[in-house]
Amino acid sequence: MGTPSLQDFQDQVSELLLRHRSLLDVLSKNGQSSASVNRSVAKAITDCGCIELHATKQTFAPGLNLEEAKETVRTHVQGELCENCREVISTELGRNLFYMSALCNLLDINMDEVVQKESQKCSTLGLFNMS
Ligand SMILES: [Zn+2]
Repeated sequence: MGTPSLQDFQDQVSELLLRHRSLLDVLSKNGQSSASVNRSVAKAITDCGCIELHATKQTFAPGLNLEEAKETVRTHVQGELCENCREVISTELGRNLFYMSALCNLLDINMDEVVQKESQKCSTLGLFNMS
């Protein structure tokens, strides 16, 4: 079995969405699951310690090209996710995707189109306009 398309996934979510049919319910679950993603990343830093966050002020001169900017702008991440944290964070991201998909279903928005539009925007805007 190949990877399901976003439309397949949306249909699947739609069938499962009996308990969370209310828009209000889905909105709060969507926010909650998004917060859980951030929390799982924070726990990889503070509980597990497999990655470290060393944040400093970003300084980058105007007029840099993409390659120069990639050299200069820091991610502030040190280390790599361990297997366990990768698993936990991936699960939370999937859960978040589930509720995002549920939200799209309730509002009759096609996720494939959302991705397509955003991708087009990325390719036309370029690096520094994505904020
Ligand atoms: Zn870890």
